[in-house]
Amino acid sequence: MKHRFDVIVVGGGHAGTEAVAAAARLGARTVLVTQDLATIGAMSCNPAIGGLGKGQLVREIDALDGIMGRAADAAGIQFRLLNRRKGPAVRGPRTQADRKLYRTFVQHALREQPGLELLQAEVADLVVEAGRCSGVVLADGTELAGGAVVLTTGTFLGGLIHIGDVRIPAGRVGEAPSLALSRTLARLSLPVGRLKTGTPARLDGRTIEWSRIERQAADAEPVPFSFLTDRVTNPQIECGVTRTTVASHALIRANLATSPLFSGTIQGRGPRYCPSIEDKVVRFGDRDGHQIFLEPEGLDDPTIYPNGISTSLSEAVQRELLATIPGLEGVRMVRPGYAIEYDFVDPRALDARLGVQALPGLYLAGQINGTTGYEEAGAQGLVAGASAAMAASGAETGLPLDRAGSYIGVMVDDLITQGVTEPYRMFTSRSEFRLSLRADNADERLTPIGQRIGLVGRGRSDCYEGHSEAMDRGREALRELALTPREAEWHGLQLNQDGQRRSAFQLLAHADIDIGRLSAIWPELQRIPGRARERLETEARYDVYLDRQARDAAALRRDEGHGLPADLDYAG
Ligand code: FAD
Repeated sequence: MKHRFDVIVVGGGHAGTEAVAAAARLGARTVLVTQDLATIGAMSCNPAIGGLGKGQLVREIDALDGIMGRAADAAGIQFRLLNRRKGPAVRGPRTQADRKLYRTFVQHALREQPGLELLQAEVADLVVEAGRCSGVVLADGTELAGGAVVLTTGTFLGGLIHIGDVRIPAGRVGEAPSLALSRTLARLSLPVGRLKTGTPARLDGRTIEWSRIERQAADAEPVPFSFLTDRVTNPQIECGVTRTTVASHALIRANLATSPLFSGTIQGRGPRYCPSIEDKVVRFGDRDGHQIFLEPEGLDDPTIYPNGISTSLSEAVQRELLATIPGLEGVRMVRPGYAIEYDFVDPRALDARLGVQALPGLYLAGQINGTTGYEEAGAQGLVAGASAAMAASGAETGLPLDRAGSYIGVMVDDLITQGVTEPYRMFTSRSEFRLSLRADNADERLTPIGQRIGLVGRGRSDCYEGHSEAMDRGREALRELALTPREAEWHGLQLNQDGQRRSAFQLLAHADIDIGRLSAIWPELQRIPGRARERLETEARYDVYLDRQARDAAALRRDEGHGLPADLDYAG
């Protein structure tokens, strides 16, 4: 007898875990099939979550009750709010993460999720009946039937690792590639291409000369990712900063011909914003050094991730290279860096629910769609998992996220309309509405949508309602309390003496006035809780621009909602 599920998700990476959790939260009977249960939630590359643009995605996943934000809070060992000195629209929360703690949190969250089964197996084929994807075939021949199937196979499809001239078929180091499924996608005539990414060597931190290395500390007050986390409890660590040298660059230039990235062996395009050290030396030849962050992989793990020197050079050259870097002259290399080539599907074959247009019932999410990064993968997983669950229950709609309301909407829209020529990563500059799509207000933008479709659980709903009431009360008080320029002067506030009464909300538009200062005039404002207070200050500061952006967003939505007739004569 076939095993039957509403939703089958293939792959336990960042896309797969959010996909199964979302599908199960919506009440779908869900199974996660992945090659190795112990690697669920594994971070393939850098031990860090968030950053510019990516931090916004994590907050959006969290606002829709996903896992990533809470996992990052449980595993974070160096929180930093990037761009703190710039405006709130471009601030990006980031943390280095203890790999083990991250994985443990994700695995625990999935085991606790009602309606979800975890199955260790390789998926070798898809079942297609009457033009619909209706299940999967495991490597041992077992069939699983499902209302919808979500593929989140990351870098595993046709994965091929390169270290100098050594080539190893693998999905990640030490893990088998997914070859049978790669053949299935070709057989189904999906538009498949090749991309590549890379990772640096791992180092034994006990053999680094730390006394010669500059340190970078965590923020004094860590800002958590999840709207449910009150405070971060992990000890916060420092990371080191060193640089490549002129000698490093000379060595790389002398060995370029042995790098598969430059010898022509690797065909796939790599991530422009996460280039290999070979790329950096070739493209920015005039620089005398490139920064390297030495990031600990965990609180009780001596392994160091040298962020900034991903490479595909041979193992011997990698050893020589490390010896040219200050502080790393005597370092022990735990394992070499490598480049990996893999198959991806042109995302223009997908619709806004991340469903394959030509094969109903099949959804794709994560690196398989040509993106790079845990956050991009997780966000797509949530969309595909929720859409698959809704489709399996007969609902016509998917998760209604658009580019005016979320970075997730921006990413999905970019992917399905423009495709990718290189691994796609998120930036705040990809959004037309970044003043409104801030990391701090992701819950206000998205939690109500999640509540409406049943994606958000009771705990988060209650927490959001509490915050929302505090915001409403605060907003009302700020709009009601007002004073004249003369009265303001008595309190030491310098305003234009134009006789106009200004509300406390309007006063907050002045750069040097915050709610703390206004509380000296109106003590009742002290009752506004911290998170609402910061949010209201931002709202007030950008009031005029936010208003304008809301009008632009409404116009975009109106245009997007305008259907073109199927028989429109485009040539005419
Ligand atoms: P993954 O996290 O790769 O998960 C795929 C899952 O699918 C795995 O659990 C695997 O076991 C499972 N699976 C695959 N095939 C099958 C099958 N047939 N049956 C059952 N299970 C299957 N991102 C960055 O942002 N910056 C970087 O510098 C960067 N460098 C990287 C370097 C390397 C070497 C690698 C491998 C990745 C790198 N990434 C980087 C990308 C980041 O790791 C991925 O974007 C992210 O993990 C993708 O998540 P995912 O869920 O799509 O896939």
